[in-house]
Amino acid sequence: MSSIEQTLSIIKPDAVERNLDKEIKQMFIKNGFTIFKEKKIQIEKSEAEKFYKVHETKPFYSDLCSYLSSGPIVAMILEKENAVIDNRKLMGATNPKDAEDGTIRKKYGISIDKNSVHGSDSVENAKKEIDFFFRD
Ligand code: UDP
Ligand code: MG
Repeated sequence: MSSIEQTLSIIKPDAVERNLDKEIKQMFIKNGFTIFKEKKIQIEKSEAEKFYKVHETKPFYSDLCSYLSSGPIVAMILEKENAVIDNRKLMGATNPKDAEDGTIRKKYGISIDKNSVHGSDSVENAKKEIDFFFRD
């Protein structure tokens, strides 16, 4: 039996700043995702710190949180069968240099930190991340 899954996607500040949000949304739609909900917002650094708490011991944590809160982002709930894993595949590797052809990060990513999109890495984290942005 197949079932529809949800995942959280974020179009990060580097991509919103370059007006790539429409093109990136089209890539999701072309690849079978439905955008169930979306909102364009700018978050505080303190909120980014909560969102990326799993990375709090990493050397890049502070820069990452400054970056995510540096400008508008588009947060979306994406839906399709196997949405979590399929979104990770469509995004490509964290470092755009290692991302395969046809992936969002290969096409639009600038660097390992400015890599244009976020995507939940498990069904469990997708639930938490969706709740973080769309609880209200
Ligand atoms: N990141 C970074 N430097 C690194 C590794 C990661 O700036 O050496 C940033 C990058 O923006 C990445 C985010 O931290 O998207 C979260 O890292 P993660 O390993 O979870 O990668 P992702 O799940 O986004 O592919
Ligand atoms: Mg991750």
